[in-house]
Amino acid sequence: PIVTRIAPSPTGFMHVGTARTALFNWLYARGRGGKFLLRVEDTDRARSTPEATEAILKGLRWLGLDWDGDAVSQADRAERHAEVARAMVESGAAYRCFATQDEIETFRETAKAEGRSTLYRSPWRDSAPGEHPDAPYVIRVKAPLEGETVIADAVQGDVRFRNDQLDDMVLLRSDGSPTYMLAVVVDDHDMGVTHVIRGDDHLNNAARQGLIYDAMGWPRPVYAHIPLIHGEDGKKLSKRHGATGVEEYAAMGYPAEAMRNYLARLGWSHGDDEVFTTEQALEWFDLGGIGRSPARLDFKKLDNVSGQHIAMMETDALLTAIAAWRSAAGLQALTEDEREALSRAMPLVKDRAKKLPDLIEKAHFALTTRPLEIEPKALKALDTVSLGILSELTPQLQNASWDRDTLEAVAGRIAEAHGLGLGKVAAPLRAALAGRTATPSVFDMMVVLGREETLARIGEAVE
Ligand code: GLU
Repeated sequence: PIVTRIAPSPTGFMHVGTARTALFNWLYARGRGGKFLLRVEDTDRARSTPEATEAILKGLRWLGLDWDGDAVSQADRAERHAEVARAMVESGAAYRCFATQDEIETFRETAKAEGRSTLYRSPWRDSAPGEHPDAPYVIRVKAPLEGETVIADAVQGDVRFRNDQLDDMVLLRSDGSPTYMLAVVVDDHDMGVTHVIRGDDHLNNAARQGLIYDAMGWPRPVYAHIPLIHGEDGKKLSKRHGATGVEEYAAMGYPAEAMRNYLARLGWSHGDDEVFTTEQALEWFDLGGIGRSPARLDFKKLDNVSGQHIAMMETDALLTAIAAWRSAAGLQALTEDEREALSRAMPLVKDRAKKLPDLIEKAHFALTTRPLEIEPKALKALDTVSLGILSELTPQLQNASWDRDTLEAVAGRIAEAHGLGLGKVAAPLRAALAGRTATPSVFDMMVVLGREETLARIGEAVE
């Protein structure tokens, strides 16, 4: 069975790059009946506050990327990491190094002056335990000195590293704490991770981590190192390109479903498909579809994808997405009445929205309550003549059958009787019903508002 994982370091927020990596791992595992695990790489005690970890969990939850079992804390596993380092010493794959910082510095300076490689070569590499002093030491891996290490990467192909370029990296520090290189390998192995999909900034690490897998006789996972996300200018994504944390996207009002679609397309493609459901992504996602060049974050495209999802989503799903957006943005939840009004207006407003807040804006006419606030611009449409027309319209509306076509016909007849265009009736109606000049179609609004509310609003305007 396939097991993937996301292994974020808690940085205080969830970077879109991490979110995309999580999504790829989730899609790959879940689309194949596999498991998707979460490991919090919280070994940096200063940064790894409970809040920083919570931000990661929140980001994953908002995106709907559920993980199997409990989140694993890397820091909790330090004992196990040390045990593996010691086992590697036992088997001769690693050694105790007693060199002091000063000695290492001197080595580097001399090597540099003599034009040799400055990769540290410890004199303790081939020492016997009998020669060991009673002093602090680190545990280093015994990297091969010749030959090459090949990482067979599902995205990058075979990537070759000369072994004489790999140093005897530290596995266990002198205080007994594991390094990142050791912890990642031990955890991935113990968690049964079969596929490691992560940013290509970790490609060099894969070569070094391979040494540990080989030394322990553990099978290496399948690697897929994905190009990082860039900004619109092709430079590495940073704050100046716009939002970098997923919670910002949640707060801006992109539905999670749309965000999953957009993030999936950042670096992965399936033919010409741009807009698809999560179910389709689960079915289609594979490592072969991941590109080799960096994807660019494109807000116009995100808006477009988001708008198409909103148009496709059912009212209930939209209400759920709206609740998530309002909570992420720190806005009050909608009341029961507001949700009901919004539901009724939804078919009218969901076609041209880009983000969830657009729905609220467009559904203003349904959400607002009497006495209506009338914008100055809309007030202009309520001159004496227009108010007369509205008064004339009232008794006819009391008896008309309440559908769009009939309502339009009723208004059309009044306009004709006055020798006016339909717009001259529609404009004051719009002002009376919505208090604004930019709204959905007047007759659609009347249907949504219903006869009673329509007449009450007209009554309020002509009063
Ligand atoms: N904790 C690492 C990071 O946040 C990820 C390590 C990995 O995926 O192997 O970049």
